[in-house]
Order: sequence, then C-alpha cells, then structure tokens
Amino acid sequence: MRRMARCVRRASAVVPAGSSARDTPCSALSVLYRPSGEFHCYTFFDKNPHVVLVDTTVVSKAPPRFLAAGMGDAIATNVEARRCRFSTNFGGGLQTEVSAAICEKCEEILFKYGKQAYEANKAHAVTPALEAVVEANTLLSGLGFESGGLAAAHAIHNGMTAIEELHSLLHGEKVAFGVVCQLVLDGVPTIELDRYIEFMLSVDLPVTFELLGIPNVKDEELRRVAELACAEGETIWNLDRVINVDFVFGAIKAADAASRDYIRRTGWKKN
Ligand SMILES: [Zn+2]
Repeated sequence: MRRMARCVRRASAVVPAGSSARDTPCSALSVLYRPSGEFHCYTFFDKNPHVVLVDTTVVSKAPPRFLAAGMGDAIATNVEARRCRFSTNFGGGLQTEVSAAICEKCEEILFKYGKQAYEANKAHAVTPALEAVVEANTLLSGLGFESGGLAAAHAIHNGMTAIEELHSLLHGEKVAFGVVCQLVLDGVPTIELDRYIEFMLSVDLPVTFELLGIPNVKDEELRRVAELACAEGETIWNLDRVINVDFVFGAIKAADAASRDYIRRTGWKKN
C-alpha cells in the first residue's frame, strides 16, 4: 500500500469548500481533463500529501451538493475495490487486508451517516455524522481507491464525460450513476441494487438519465460512453469478469431502467 496521508479533523486550515466532494486530496494522483471537459488521463506523483486538512466548519457552510457528490465518489470505493482484488492497485501492488477493511469502513459510514450528514449540511451544522462522512469522503475513500483500485464505475464516469450535457455535473454525481452500472455488471441481486439506489436518491445523487439531465440521450451516445469506458488502459479491465463494449452498453441502459423501476415501486419523489 502507498504511504498513508495523515488526515486531521477539525483542523483550522481553510480548504476549498468543494474538498469534501471527491477523494483526490489524499492521493498521489490527479485526473487531467481536456479543455472540452472530456476525460484525458491520470497523472501520478512520487508522494502522497504529508498532511490533509479539512475544516468541517467550512464544509458545513458549503452547498450540500458538494458533500453528496463526495459520497457518490466514495460509495464507489468499496464497490470497485471488492471486484478487483487480484488486479494491481495504483501503487503497483495487490490489495492488502487493511486496504479492503478501509474500503468496507468507508461504505459502512456512508450507509450509516450519509443521509444524516447531508441534512446537517443543509442546516450548516457540524455534527458527528457530518464529520464521519467527511472522513469517509476524503481519507477513507482516498486511501481506499488508491490501495484497492478502481473498476467500472470510474471507467464509465470517464466515458460519460464525452456527453457535453453532463459537463455541468460534479465528478461524484457521474460516478454515482457509474456505481449503479457496475452493480448491474456485477450481477448483484435486486435487493442489493435497491440498497445502493435508495442511498443515492436519499442524498439527491442522479441514478437515471432523467436525473442526470439527459432524458433523451441516444443509444449512439451511450455506446460511445461504453467504448470509452472499455478503452485500453481503463480501470474497467481490473474487474474480475469478462468485459466488452456490448456488456457495458447494456449495463448503462439497465442501470437507468433499474433505477426508474425502483422509483416507480417506492414512489420516491425529489424534494
Ligand atoms: Zn473518483
């Protein structure tokens, strides 16, 4: 596992308000996008940051959409890592027991406190739930994805950046949809898929084409997303199953369908 970045909670340093919106602050990599907004590549550094400071008072005053997007990114960590245990991680090694445990803890915190933290953020309140979710979004997800590995959720996110209408969405919002796609690819039972969809919807993360803002997306565009997700070197190849463009295209369509079905069955409505 790569060197651990140390994370201090309740620190006094002011960080960008969107810092809880993704898990990169603790990692030794950055993602480069083209000027058009499309994913370009990952770039790697020699070291992880020595210290990461997150001021939860600042986070509590930021738009809750940032925190929710961070949860969309962080909920992918365990979903992806558990399906690439035999692929090399970003450090070039294999997962360890502790890296798997970090990923599982990250997910546990999100299911336990995610909704509560989201509501606290709306009220600009610093609570134990908010602090736990900031830790999950930033530290656990950062250590988890780097030591565990990414898979289909992020590869599909990268493919989705080819759709111009999605450029206004945050990274974690697109990853959230990618998580549903990967769960479909993984062939999880409906009860498990429902658990993730319920969580995403509870913090207003988009899990249907309509919620993503692309209700009339064309099959050609989705096929292009699938092709990009399956590009050489993409993290989708870390998955422990057979992958091709047709499977991924089908998973994208089925993820939207499964989420719409969930909404129909439960009568969920956006607040
Ligand atoms: Zn991410």
